Amino acid sequence: MEISAQSHTVAQVVSDKGLYLDYNATTPVDPQVYATMEPYFKEYFGNPASVAHHWGWTAENGVQKARMQVASLIGAKSSEITFTASATESNNWVIFGLISKLREENPNQPIHMITSCLEHSSVLKGMQAAEKQGVEVDVLPVNNFGQVEIETLRAAIKPHTKLISLIWVNNEIGSINPIVEAASLAKEKQILFHTDATQAIGKIPVNVTEMGIDLMSFSAHKFYGPKGSAALFIRGKDPKVQINPFIYGGGQEKGLRSGTLNVPAIVGLGTASEICKINLNAEAERMTALRNLFWQKLQTAIPGIRLNGHPTNRSPINLNVTLPGIRIESLTAKIQKLGVSTGSACSSGSVSISHVLKGIGLSADEAACTLRLSLGRWTTEADIQRAVEILHGAIPSQII
Ligand code: PMP
Repeated sequence: MEISAQSHTVAQVVSDKGLYLDYNATTPVDPQVYATMEPYFKEYFGNPASVAHHWGWTAENGVQKARMQVASLIGAKSSEITFTASATESNNWVIFGLISKLREENPNQPIHMITSCLEHSSVLKGMQAAEKQGVEVDVLPVNNFGQVEIETLRAAIKPHTKLISLIWVNNEIGSINPIVEAASLAKEKQILFHTDATQAIGKIPVNVTEMGIDLMSFSAHKFYGPKGSAALFIRGKDPKVQINPFIYGGGQEKGLRSGTLNVPAIVGLGTASEICKINLNAEAERMTALRNLFWQKLQTAIPGIRLNGHPTNRSPINLNVTLPGIRIESLTAKIQKLGVSTGSACSSGSVSISHVLKGIGLSADEAACTLRLSLGRWTTEADIQRAVEILHGAIPSQII
């Protein structure tokens, strides 16, 4: 199937249910992605590990094509891509796969790992669990924009630092970390460098080879692929990165990640990657312009509104705003038709203040007045206008 730059509108993002502006949480599957997945549920249902017949070979071909598409999007070799079920899994695998490998080599060596306070919980909680296993962990603070400062990172490095793991684009406030500089510092000190690129892929240029990244996690459902389909890039050369498996069994994925491959989901990840590669520049440009317009309109409609995260060096799709004095829970009924997020979607449901907002210095009260609005492939200028009107209409007039 020929993949084109243009995909049909996904009707569900604007419907009588409301307007979806939560693309940082997840994205709908692009119709072109879905079309390539469908045959793998039906006629191409084989197990790629079945090497003796047509059904197995067809499934295996689909997986290998996807591996090439994913590798091509991030500037890697196919052999450096391992499929997983989520970025959560990829992140956990990096931490525990490395600890296991290092302890196998030398059970008594001290292990130090560095991360930041703005990571996704799959890294932060993984690191906490690693600490319980005797690993020394430093969680770096960030500046007011939510970025790790290179000098803070440099100062935290110890002779026994084995891993630096930093989020590339923050999922709540959209700030972009200085990943190229951090990776280069890690290389200079001969430390492995991992980045959680879940919110970066398809939004900003990513090239693991040029940027000196050793390990990278990402997930299809953030860039118009299916849920439950993700990958870990593991550098194959200079240095050849070695981590132990996290899941043992039948030896799939060169013995690194056992379990029968989720072929339709992997094919979907491949197509989503190909579309992102074709569209990256144009889409980033359109999203940035739309995001800027949205912010401009919000400032006019809601005096006093504040933007969290970096003003310019931020995700093209993300706005995270505080409406001082206006608790979002008091607006809920009025903004029901707006599919937005009041914190990280991954931790919503919990009443505690988001660790990300706390990390950039917001008080609990400010956090309660904070909204994340995120745009996507099918968001239009008319949608932005409607969102501004809904928000404006929801705020008590004595405040405006
Ligand atoms: N890292 C980041 C930055 C994310 O935004 C998310 C999803 N919210 C994850 C990791 C986890 O991804 P997955 O849903 O594939 O487990």
